[in-house]
Amino acid sequence: MGEAAKVPVVAEAHEVDTFHPPQKMLEKHPSKPHLNGLEDYQKLYKESITEPTKFWGRLARELLTWHKDFQTVSSGSLQGGDVAWFLEGELNASYNCVDRHAFKDPNRVAIIYEADEPSEGRNVTYGELLREVSKVAYVLRDMGVRKGDTVAIYLPMVPEAVVALLACARIGAVHSVVFAGFSADSLRDRVIDARSKVVITSDEGKRGGKLIGTKKIVDEALKQCPDVRHTLVFKRTGADIPMTPGRDVWWHEEVQKWPAYIPPEPMSSEDPLFLLYTSGSTGKPKGMMHTTGGYLLGAAATGKYVFDIHDGDRFFCGGDVGWITGHTYVVYAPLLLGVSTVVFEGTPAYPNFSRYWDIIENHKVTQFYVAPTALRLLKRAGDQHVRNEMKHLRVLGSVGEPIAAEVWKWYFEVVGKEEAQIVDTYWQTETGSHVITPLAGVTPTKPGSASLPFFGIEPAIIDPVSGEEIHGNDVEGVLAFKQPWPSMARTVWGAHKRYMETYLTVYNGYYFTGDGAGRDHEGFYWIRGRVDDVVNVSGHRLSTAEIEAALIEHPAIAEAAVVGVADELTGQAVNAFVAIKEGNEASDALRKEFILQVRRSIGPFAAPKAVYIVPDLPKTRSGKIMRRILRKILAGEEDQLGDITTLSDPSVVAKIITTVHDAK
Ligand code: ATP
Ligand code: MG
Repeated sequence: MGEAAKVPVVAEAHEVDTFHPPQKMLEKHPSKPHLNGLEDYQKLYKESITEPTKFWGRLARELLTWHKDFQTVSSGSLQGGDVAWFLEGELNASYNCVDRHAFKDPNRVAIIYEADEPSEGRNVTYGELLREVSKVAYVLRDMGVRKGDTVAIYLPMVPEAVVALLACARIGAVHSVVFAGFSADSLRDRVIDARSKVVITSDEGKRGGKLIGTKKIVDEALKQCPDVRHTLVFKRTGADIPMTPGRDVWWHEEVQKWPAYIPPEPMSSEDPLFLLYTSGSTGKPKGMMHTTGGYLLGAAATGKYVFDIHDGDRFFCGGDVGWITGHTYVVYAPLLLGVSTVVFEGTPAYPNFSRYWDIIENHKVTQFYVAPTALRLLKRAGDQHVRNEMKHLRVLGSVGEPIAAEVWKWYFEVVGKEEAQIVDTYWQTETGSHVITPLAGVTPTKPGSASLPFFGIEPAIIDPVSGEEIHGNDVEGVLAFKQPWPSMARTVWGAHKRYMETYLTVYNGYYFTGDGAGRDHEGFYWIRGRVDDVVNVSGHRLSTAEIEAALIEHPAIAEAAVVGVADELTGQAVNAFVAIKEGNEASDALRKEFILQVRRSIGPFAAPKAVYIVPDLPKTRSGKIMRRILRKILAGEEDQLGDITTLSDPSVVAKIITTVHDAK
């Protein structure tokens, strides 16, 4: 297997196209990209690796405003699990995101709120944001929240969610956002694990034209959270909801009591800013802890260089604030850089499949950022829904999963009209901000590759068997990083041992990502998916992402998930689960076509031994496919599915089990 890890992989077997930053994108640029071409990137990248102190010290002073300057840029090590950045430095996240822009230009738009109903949105200026954040900060302080306390936030995508995060940061409280689609049990677990004593929520939520009983879920969860003293309830719909006297208070009533300015609490650079639980694709979610200075720098630096954010830009990240993508790229990066950020409450399918494109056109959005799962949905719905205009778009981002080349090209051609650059950004809740990614306007791209490392990230491809780093290009293995970077998570909340064992002691001296990756002949990185998701057929290490990408090229397939099952002959065999587009009927002939598709596109060795046509795939609430559930079902271990509370629709599991049983 040590040898097998080095077997050249499929992606490099066939020629891939390289796309340069589109000329038309550069022509409509308000000035020019922050870097002058790839050579500039290479020069800076080299400095960030060989002289990280100089590089990050300079950037930290350039992009952030410090209450008190730091003397030490970084200390600690990956081995020690005690990484710290900008020691002695003091700053406040809400000051950096709000005050410094509000003082200069209070009328600049901070938040473009797109409500679930297209007509009900509004804008929030930096001046208004400062007043609202201050008032809520007072409310929290009045509830007894002190520096270092954690506050749970369970809110729909409304401007008040952004206000809530920043109000916590303003007084030094640690926010712990729980995605407002989670059940009462999942919320309870996260409130207890984070030891939150206050919960910020709303009466109801509104998404895709449907009402969600948000407060009801909170009430249910809090029955088993005796330590929660208060809930602050934002009135979103005006529904008649029960309020528990002494515990629940209304947001609009409380904020009236307090003045519109409260000074920000100076925080040590290493004071925690927030806790956030991972998506739970591979098991029980981990409560990652991020600190203030390093995290903010990662957000600002990637916002500036990856998305090429300039003054006056309008940034639209479709991710929910309940995920790391929403934290870093709905809230922190755009606000740190003082531009306008879209807060979108709805879904891409409501009131119709043009919703994203309408938002982009109506608000002259310059950067759009979304997950491949949404792109697959919209591609499946048909090109007729995509609007022709959207002339201001310069950057189209993808995040969360590998993006199949077919979907990448659709994004580039149909959505971007070849006038915007695609940035496939690889990162994790744990990394805080992008780690492998193109820089818009600078880095050439190849569909399916996250391209090159961001500043300060020194990737290593490791042979999973020997644990040795594999040097040079055209290599394959698991992905790790060799040096600490500012925005890395510092611990798993209350479980530092788990943090060490999951990330830092697997390969001593490295940060282990848990993902497989290849580095091609030009040094470009190709993320293959979770290490657990690699299939080993007769010594060929195949990436599930690769085979799925091949399947998606078939016109009848909407989504595909590939897993390995034990096989007497070949060690493992490839099995595929596919959801087909409307208008197609499941049949043996179709299944054969799918197998042929993989044979043709990759090779006979990758052909699925079985293809199951299912109504839908098991996905996390952030839209990622949970392949471990499919593996368990195929192994006949339906009673050992593990933690499935992060599934968005648990009912698909029973349907998949039936399909597999019927086929056997
Ligand atoms: P858990 O850690 O609980 O299993 P999760 O890993 O899905 O859940 P996140 O931190 O939200 O939680 O996701 C990070 C993972 O998403 C990465 O490790 C990687 O597998 C995948 N990922 C993110 N961006 C990309 C990308 N651009 N290309 C390929 N994979 C990506
Ligand atoms: Mg993970």
